Amino acid sequence: MSLPPRSSPRRVSFRSGAAGSPWPAVTLRLALIFLVSGGLGYLIGHVVLGLFLGTAACLVWNLVNQVQLERWLREGRTLEPPDSRGLWGDIFNGIHRLQRRQRSRRQKLATILQGIRESINAMPDAAVILRENSEIQWWNGPARDLLGLQWPQDEGQRIANLFRHPDFGSFIRREEEGTSTITVPSPVDEDLMLEIRLIPYAENQRLLLARDITRLYRLERMRRDFVANISHELRTPLTVIHGLSETLADTVGNGDPRTRRSIELIHQQTLRMERLVEDLLMLSRLETEPKPVEMKPVNLPAVLGLLVEEARTLSGDGNHRIELDTDPGLWVYGDESELRSALSNLVFNAVKYTPAGGHIQVLWQRRGNRAYFRVEDDGPGIPAQHLPRLTERFYRLDSGRSSRTGGTGLGLAIVKHVLGRYGTRLQIKSEVGKGSRFSITFPERLTLPYVDTTMISETAGRR
Ligand code: ADP
Repeated sequence: MSLPPRSSPRRVSFRSGAAGSPWPAVTLRLALIFLVSGGLGYLIGHVVLGLFLGTAACLVWNLVNQVQLERWLREGRTLEPPDSRGLWGDIFNGIHRLQRRQRSRRQKLATILQGIRESINAMPDAAVILRENSEIQWWNGPARDLLGLQWPQDEGQRIANLFRHPDFGSFIRREEEGTSTITVPSPVDEDLMLEIRLIPYAENQRLLLARDITRLYRLERMRRDFVANISHELRTPLTVIHGLSETLADTVGNGDPRTRRSIELIHQQTLRMERLVEDLLMLSRLETEPKPVEMKPVNLPAVLGLLVEEARTLSGDGNHRIELDTDPGLWVYGDESELRSALSNLVFNAVKYTPAGGHIQVLWQRRGNRAYFRVEDDGPGIPAQHLPRLTERFYRLDSGRSSRTGGTGLGLAIVKHVLGRYGTRLQIKSEVGKGSRFSITFPERLTLPYVDTTMISETAGRR
């Protein structure tokens, strides 16, 4: 809804008729009064007395009008101005006109405000205006049903005192620049899932919007459960096929080459399906558990050392030049197996997608109070249009190549989910023909101060 443009301040003339200076009329009137009063005084032989009485009459007339004006403005019961003539009549009319204009402007604004309130009330989403300290200033009808806000007792209350979900508490305390979102159950009904958005505006004001996403949430949970269950169910038959294909390969031995080739294919595809199932299970575990189970100090330089060794083995005849540059005292808090899984996907991808003989560099260093990981290769690079979608499940540039290299198309999706749990994300830079760079910055709260590794190895040696 657009508000009418603000009218520019205009000079107000107190004359009801044509605008003009009141001085000639006022001077004429005064001259007449003094002439008449002086003339009457002359007739009775007391000119000064006549003039004095004329002046007193003027004063009394002015006083009467001032008192009328004061009472009119003070009582303000009637909008009609007091009946008066001359300059005072013009003043009353001028003020009356101003009042009328003011009143119609107020009415217009009230109508617009009413319209805005009605439209906000008609929204299916809850809207709450929060002033400084997250105190509730105003809310619409759906906020009563979704958030349980009650008029008037909740006005001015801090919203975190009424809505006591721990996630919501830390969400509302966060001072973020842009819009932020959280999904929490409604305080009115645990089964209602709300998506809450906080939008800062003006000075220290925030708009809280809550949307009922119960249906969407259930569908999403069903999808997650379905993928997790089916992956779980596939595990056993795959293990059996895997075992049988190995037995068959042993039985056939150096027999018919076509049969041998078929068994080899069964074996390869079973391995691929097993990897897929493992990745799917890992993804659904990451989705269902919002935070890492264990947050322990992780010796990431050691993890990276092992990963690079594995990457060299994976490279095999590819003879990639893989360099590792780590800060041995740089540890982070986290879950070691999760972190290993994320970083290995990045390092192994560099090996898989960089042609034989290529150069891969793995870097782990402190940047200020944060930890920085980077893996860089001089492989084929990734065209810019693919970059935003690269972390989506099953998104591949070249599915044939990905399958040949044993890829499941889930590696970067796993990386994204793992990093999300640590409050960070994957940065990808790539140029076709030059190579790719995948980097991660770990936040300060997860970066340990310098760890003296010589002390650790000495202690370990003594044990
Ligand atoms: P995949 O299992 O297919 O490797 P990922 O999710 O790990 O799946 O990667 C998604 C896609 O990103 C890959 O199919 C590949 O096309 C591209 N990709 C990932 N890493 C690199 C890299 N270092 N160089 C070039 N392309 C890469």
